[in-house]
Amino acid sequence: MKEKRGLLIGRMQPVHKGHISVIQETLKEVEELIIGIGSAEKSHTESNPFTGGERILMLTKALREYDIDPSRYYIIPLEDISCNSLWVGHVKMLTPPFCKVYSGNSLVQQLFEEGEIPCIQPSLFNRTEYSGTEVRRRILNDDDWQSLIPESVVKVINEIKGVQRIQKLNKKEISEL
Ligand code: ATP
Ligand code: MG
Repeated sequence: MKEKRGLLIGRMQPVHKGHISVIQETLKEVEELIIGIGSAEKSHTESNPFTGGERILMLTKALREYDIDPSRYYIIPLEDISCNSLWVGHVKMLTPPFCKVYSGNSLVQQLFEEGEIPCIQPSLFNRTEYSGTEVRRRILNDDDWQSLIPESVVKVINEIKGVQRIQKLNKKEISEL
């Protein structure tokens, strides 16, 4: 029998095809999935270029593109807090109740397990290419980034001028050269 509700957390900077695959796989195991957008308050940095709202837009469009039933997931922005020991309570405060967590991050695993919530490591799909770091690297180098992410996410990145943003964020001031 399927578990009632699970939680999957990713920063999704940006949403890529690995995220879609793990969401599709996890939805085979749980009735409903809470998708937490991690570090939701962060934006305009090299490793976190997009705002929480932009990432909600990317994920909403991508899940629609892949025909994932909207009654089966909740997208919740999760801001970081500086106190790791209180983080599980912070996440629980912001999300619908869940009985299992899916995360490959060892700190996330440790914190939930200490909070008596089982955490499992989902398998990775084509990780050499389907990785946020790789997508951002390719955007920066004008390499093929479009094939790593859903078409609808390409559209969002174009709409918000994401390529220019990432390339500009990486430029040094003349005084730093
Ligand atoms: P970054 O390189 O910016 O850290 P990322 O690709 O690791 O990006 P995150 O936004 O950090 O993605 O989200 C991490 C979570 O997303 C992982 O814990 C894992 O569950 C899932 N995930 C990321 N990439 C893949 C992949 N290729 N296949 C399956 N799941 C993935
Ligand atoms: Mg990561």
